[in-house]
Amino acid sequence: MKTLLIITSFIVLGGYLISQVSKQSQKSKGKMGTKQEAKKTYEVQKSEDEWKKILTPEQYYVIRKKGTERAFTGEYSNNHEKGVYLCAACGQELFSSDHKFESGTGWPSFWEPVKKENVEAEEDNSLFMRRTEALCSRCGAHLGHVFDDGPKPTGLRYCINSVSLKFAKKKD
Ligand code: FE
Repeated sequence: MKTLLIITSFIVLGGYLISQVSKQSQKSKGKMGTKQEAKKTYEVQKSEDEWKKILTPEQYYVIRKKGTERAFTGEYSNNHEKGVYLCAACGQELFSSDHKFESGTGWPSFWEPVKKENVEAEEDNSLFMRRTEALCSRCGAHLGHVFDDGPKPTGLRYCINSVSLKFAKKKD
């Protein structure tokens, strides 16, 4: 009897999860559709094959497929050196060590970009969350997400994948 109850619970829960997932994917399909209609043309344009040649598989997964590196595994989450962080795909200056802070999340975090126009923000409703995606404005590289729980003066937290960045150390 107990087993039957457990099995029934699993079936009900499973059915619910599947219906939620399909709802979400329909939603994101709609989003992608609208996105595609108004597809942005970036200054740096490359075919997916060309990107694959330039980027490492991990970079390609994060930058082009909007993936996320595992927390605390990235090269720069614990980097305290002075310098600038460039886009790993096109080299545009994105962030400065002057605006980096310890967020404790395991991803390099900044309260603002080097120049506001260098980092674009776009609504992202994937993975059951309403988030704001951060992209390189020159090539459209996925960088990470922006949250509004950052420190002063902006109150923003740019949570960025190390793999989307290339650090250029400041010369003394
Ligand atoms: Fe870029």
